[in-house]
Amino acid sequence: MTASVDEWSRLRAEMRACHKCLDADYVIVPGAVFSGPASARVMVVGQAPGVTESEVKRPFNGTSGTRLFQWLAQAGWEETTFRARHYMTAVTKCYPGKAKSGKGDRAPTRTEQKLCRPFLKRELMLVNPRLILPVGRLANEVFLGKFKLADVVGTCKQDDKGRYIVPLPHPSGASLWLNRPEHQARVAQALELLKRLRDELDL
Ligand code: SF4
Repeated sequence: MTASVDEWSRLRAEMRACHKCLDADYVIVPGAVFSGPASARVMVVGQAPGVTESEVKRPFNGTSGTRLFQWLAQAGWEETTFRARHYMTAVTKCYPGKAKSGKGDRAPTRTEQKLCRPFLKRELMLVNPRLILPVGRLANEVFLGKFKLADVVGTCKQDDKGRYIVPLPHPSGASLWLNRPEHQARVAQALELLKRLRDELDL
């Protein structure tokens, strides 16, 4: 861990107390959701917490989490150990509420993402993970820019700090992307890759 205890505690307290999006008139449920120690060597970055995550303040607590941890188990990580050892956060850290269509949750706007980005930058700087797992299109765009999910899932990139980035799709049951056999094959490829990295980097 390169972060000082003070810097780490300050960041966590600031995230928990933040209501910048509310102040900017976005209807969010304040109370940032994140978990894990600064010593984590793997960082999962989702889009934004859902309602159950917001209630219990635990990332990937709902059905998306069930599938995500099934994937991670295939790569060799058991959920309880993973949650204790590694860091989980999101592009925006407060629940953004339901989508107007009534289908699923509202995607955070660009403004909300911009308001929350300094926190993500500080998390990345203080944790400095060896492996980053962006989950879902929005999180992947933060690290990889615009792309077709089918072109990047199953591949591995390294950023300018040598950190490995392994993109994953959103594990939500509502994601139609996962229904296609060729996409399921890309996920299987990504999990093979993760298993290899986990062993090679001792994560
Ligand atoms: S989403 Fe981020 S910037 Fe917006 S209120 Fe929550 S912690 Fe603050």
